[in-house]
Order: sequence, then C-alpha cells, then structure tokens
Amino acid sequence: MLIKDSKKARDTELLVRFTEWYCRSHHQNAKREPLVSTGTQAGIYGQRIPLLCADCAEYARYAEQRTELCRHDPKPFCSACPIKCYKPSMAAYSRQVMRYAGPRALFSRYWRQALSHLINGRRVGRRAPATPPADYPQAENSNND
Ligand SMILES: [Zn+2]
Repeated sequence: MLIKDSKKARDTELLVRFTEWYCRSHHQNAKREPLVSTGTQAGIYGQRIPLLCADCAEYARYAEQRTELCRHDPKPFCSACPIKCYKPSMAAYSRQVMRYAGPRALFSRYWRQALSHLINGRRVGRRAPATPPADYPQAENSNND
C-alpha cells in the first residue's frame, strides 16, 4: 500500500496529475470518471480525485502498482532508473504523457518536483538496460505485449 506523503506517494501523485492533464487535453470526448485505485483508497490524491478516461485510468493503476513494487529505496524518478520495469505499451503511454505534461509542470504548483525530475533525469538517465531482471516483481495481470 502506498503511504500518503511518502516519496513514492508524492511521485505517484505527480505522475497521475500529469496523466489527468494529458487526458483532459487529449481525451475530451471520452467518458472521464474519478479514478478508483489503491492510490485513491490510500488517500494519496487528497480530496481531489483525478478524473480519467478508461485508458488513462488503466495506465494510472499500472503506474501506481509499479511504484508500489519498486525495489529501490529511495525510489529514483522512473526516467532515471537503471531498471526499466514498465511493459512496452505502458512505457510508450508514459512517454506520451510526460512529453505533454513535463514542460507544463514547470509553470504549475509542481514546478519544484518537475525541475528536480528534469535535472536528475538528465544526469543519470539514458544509459539503462532495456529489460528488468527476470526476478523483478511483476504487476498483477501484467502481460508482456
Ligand atoms: Zn485519457
């Protein structure tokens, strides 16, 4: 369970807020509902439950689960992590969301986190092995597509 206000919870909240921005601008015609997930149950989004379409909600739940299963302590930003543990379809979703939301975050109330993300991601990212070790914990119902 993600613990409210832990670093993992804060990183997850940021990622899902980004997803919410992305969804709002890209999926206007989809039905968007308050997210139901272990993260919302744990209260990591506070009173403002993210509104997401079905696809974005699936991604958000996946991201929560990956973060929860992350072995690193402290957890690095995923972009800076040597273990890329997302399955390819979700990694692609993540890139789309970040490409849209990353630059916008610098002008939001999340700018501090976004800036440190940018700096840390640049410094240690981009030299990662492509696949996680075989014994890395897999999310439930994850399939390798
Ligand atoms: Zn969406």
